[in-house]
Amino acid sequence: MDFDDTQEEAAWRAEVREFLERHREELGSRNDDVARARQATLYDAGFVGVTWPVEAGGRGGTPMQQAIIDQEMARLGLPGLINLIGIGMCGPTVIMHGSDDQKQRYLKRLLRADDLWCQLFSEPAAGSDLAGLRTRAVLGEDGNWRVDGQKVWTTLAHLSDYGILLTRTDPDVPKHRGLTMFVVDMRAPGVTVRPLRQMSGGADFNEVFFDDVVIPDAERLGDVGDGWRVALTTLMSERLSLGGGGTGIGARAETVARHVAEHLDGLSPDRQVLARQELGRAYVAVLGARYTGYRQLSKLSRGELPGPEASAGKLSGTRSARDLADLAVRVLGDDARVATSRDGSDTWQTLQAGLPGMAIAGGTDQVLRNIIGERVLGLPAEPRADKGVTFRESLG
Ligand SMILES: Cc1cc2nc3c(=O)[nH]c(=O)nc-3n(C[C@H](O)[C@H](O)[C@H](O)COP(=O)(O)OP(=O)(O)OC[C@H]3O[C@@H](n4cnc5c(N)ncnc54)[C@H](O)[C@@H]3O)c2cc1C
Repeated sequence: MDFDDTQEEAAWRAEVREFLERHREELGSRNDDVARARQATLYDAGFVGVTWPVEAGGRGGTPMQQAIIDQEMARLGLPGLINLIGIGMCGPTVIMHGSDDQKQRYLKRLLRADDLWCQLFSEPAAGSDLAGLRTRAVLGEDGNWRVDGQKVWTTLAHLSDYGILLTRTDPDVPKHRGLTMFVVDMRAPGVTVRPLRQMSGGADFNEVFFDDVVIPDAERLGDVGDGWRVALTTLMSERLSLGGGGTGIGARAETVARHVAEHLDGLSPDRQVLARQELGRAYVAVLGARYTGYRQLSKLSRGELPGPEASAGKLSGTRSARDLADLAVRVLGDDARVATSRDGSDTWQTLQAGLPGMAIAGGTDQVLRNIIGERVLGLPAEPRADKGVTFRESLG
């Protein structure tokens, strides 16, 4: 593990820092109405889509350069980009599998947040077992596809202009082989988006219904029946975009330590002792998650890509963030409603209510443990009852 910036990384960090500090007020606004404009400002300065190829609207930079931008934004407590799913998942999928025409039409607008994008994969009966999805796409004689089905947990669908949509085009082959991916216009007739209310009070994700939605064949991403391979591009990009180096949690750990310390005097002596012990334990866990993140950053800095062991980083990061938020809520009591984390975006209570979602999104804790068991530790694979049978047969 190497903690120091190389000379080039240090120069890049200085450039990024100077720009962010100069535009701090504008970029720090939490007003949702200006979220697209904030991203456009960053894009026009060359700080969005850094790793994307130049012809796709990016600057052909390194993942390490992107990680430095993320770190510097976290350092100033700036809100994240609105089109994160587009940048982290949908865009890379279009770059890998889209036609030249799709790339021309979509990519630059996505990076500037002129268009927002969402990822339409999960369904009521297909989350961890994504390849079991049922949304059906059928090719008509007019050369257009007609789509019927339902997606769920679609983050940002209520604001999105486009989505990448994974469908079943052939139920008579094994489940991974009968899938096809499309770009869908979220304003097309037959698309209905219904927001879902979360326990944190927000409504960031949605149910999305498709009723006889027409998608031109030119909006297909990859070959017919090759959707699983296309989806793996998306999921790999998701893993990379989630592996942010643990710096956000680190900043929160220091804030919670300060808030808890301020409240210790108000606690009885025995509760003080317990709170100190818990704070120590939670803080050590956060440091563990942070250094696991640094290990990934060192890999990126050497030009390598994180492997399946990156799952451990997400597992430990989520666990330690949850422990910290739980501790803060218990020690701060009523004050947990007002005491905010350093960047001012959350109260400890909303953070506590939002974190269980992180143990589900982008691979649940249990599924990540399976990956670590099978692909890192080399343990025997899970039994898979639907192996070798067609999707239709697997429905019984
Ligand atoms: C905040 C958030 C944002 C999301 N955004 C999106 C989005 O934008 N687009 C999108 O398509 N989806 C999105 N999702 C959905 C997410 O991908 C799924 O929730 C996730 O894949 C789990 O699927 P599921 O909810 O159907 O649970 P299930 O797969 O039904 O799992 C239920 C339980 O069973 C366990 N389990 C399942 N299989 C196994 C196994 N093989 N071994 C051991 N345990 C197992 C799981 O760990 C879980 O505890 C989002 C979810 C969240 C929480």
